[in-house]
Amino acid sequence: MSKIRATIWGENVHEQKVAFIREIYPKGMHGCIADGLNEDAAIEATTVTLQEPEHGLTVEKLAATDVLVWWGHAAHGEVQDAIVDRVIKRVNEGMGLIVLHSGHYAKVFKRLLGTTCSLTWREAGEKERLWVCNPGHPIAAGLGTYFEIEQEEMYGEPFGIPTPDEQIFISWFEGGEVFRSGATWKRGNGKIFYFRPGHESYPTYYDANVKLVLKNAVRWAKPEGTWIDTCPNIPVDKAPEKIEIKGATLHAPGEEGLK
Ligand code: ZN
Repeated sequence: MSKIRATIWGENVHEQKVAFIREIYPKGMHGCIADGLNEDAAIEATTVTLQEPEHGLTVEKLAATDVLVWWGHAAHGEVQDAIVDRVIKRVNEGMGLIVLHSGHYAKVFKRLLGTTCSLTWREAGEKERLWVCNPGHPIAAGLGTYFEIEQEEMYGEPFGIPTPDEQIFISWFEGGEVFRSGATWKRGNGKIFYFRPGHESYPTYYDANVKLVLKNAVRWAKPEGTWIDTCPNIPVDKAPEKIEIKGATLHAPGEEGLK
């Protein structure tokens, strides 16, 4: 069986500019996330970064991606809109998308969800407890009733997202806030999973439970099929039943139409 092709998109800014973050993630956060996924024999994870031509997301690379994993924070505005369009088109066709942590403000996430995606936050090295909302969901496979991360940034409600199709995790933080930290949506033919942990100041992506969630999520988000949405005109003589044109028509037979 062919492997699930996961592409990890890394912004790769703080790892370059901030010494203590580079020490935590010497191969970049994207490199650490890919290493964790490649522990799973069913997954083949590769990395691309913002700094590459077309941010590493060429037409060819996206066509060869089953699941795109997105980590960004400081440079959401530097992502070219043409590349955002390209990613969204692939999600609608069926490519899976996993958006991590501060990617809640990524252009691709905000446009696909259509809401502000804002939240409350605090950087104080607090304990995070992630409660499993649906133990039967494939993304939660192998986890207990909850798991904890010793130090994380706090994200709190209200979280400006459309009501999720499925709620997988709810987080509690040491300071008292709660947050919908794992949620899924479907857009077109593509599956989307948002997963909250992963502040760059902490070694979150080395955590065994976090790595398990990401492996599960890649397996869950892989395409079930591809839908190339072209909005074709079906001529009268190609209708499933024999019909004739009645009345006036705006469009010429076989015309491409307005898009
Ligand atoms: Zn953060």
